[in-house]
Amino acid sequence: MAVVAGVVVAAAERSLTELEAFGLHVSGCTRCRLAQGRTQVVFGAGDPNANLMFVGEAPGFHEDKQGYPFVGQAGKLLDKLLAAIGLDRNSVYIANVLKCRPPGNRDPGADEIEACEGHLFRQIELIRPRVVATLGNFATKLLSGKPAGITRVHGAEQHVTVGGNRVLLYPLYHPAAALYTPAMLKVLEEDFARLPAILGRPAAEAAPAAAAQLAPPVLAEPAVQLGLF
Ligand code: URA
Repeated sequence: MAVVAGVVVAAAERSLTELEAFGLHVSGCTRCRLAQGRTQVVFGAGDPNANLMFVGEAPGFHEDKQGYPFVGQAGKLLDKLLAAIGLDRNSVYIANVLKCRPPGNRDPGADEIEACEGHLFRQIELIRPRVVATLGNFATKLLSGKPAGITRVHGAEQHVTVGGNRVLLYPLYHPAAALYTPAMLKVLEEDFARLPAILGRPAAEAAPAAAAQLAPPVLAEPAVQLGLF
């Protein structure tokens, strides 16, 4: 038996999917120093064929212990936001920029992101989501390839190619930041409420070539997000 992305795979009963095999491969990753302090790699979880994928920052304490992404307080808020649009975590795929917990939940280091990004790109390539909702600054900057922060770009659709796939990037505030800032939570709920319409569009329209409309800054850039989860 193998445990891949939190799923027990009866290897004797069927062969692994490509995503499961990749998860198994990543579970032994030693590309950066985070390998030394982790309990386990938190690869990702959810529907491997999801149209909608969420990408957060990095596992926190609870994620590191349990092996699943977003299982702490921020995850509970993510569950509520999903329920409000008629979805749950089994109908989407959830992953992070970093697959291992940074000590003390500090921010991901640039070298750690660089070491780990290939895992996320390959995950996106295998899952082939139409929409990737980035949660917070780190995922947004990595997948947009641009330095603009989440305060500026939240709710603004962008069209990017990741892992060879054309995807619609939809940046959102990080739920951990929104937990403690009511104004940010309201914006996050409003941005979330637009997801069903975005997902309901025909595939070609979900990633049109139009330029992204940047949101006016409504809140100061959250100074620290990771300390919150
Ligand atoms: N839990 C995660 O898995 N990722 C985050 O970014 C925050 C909490």
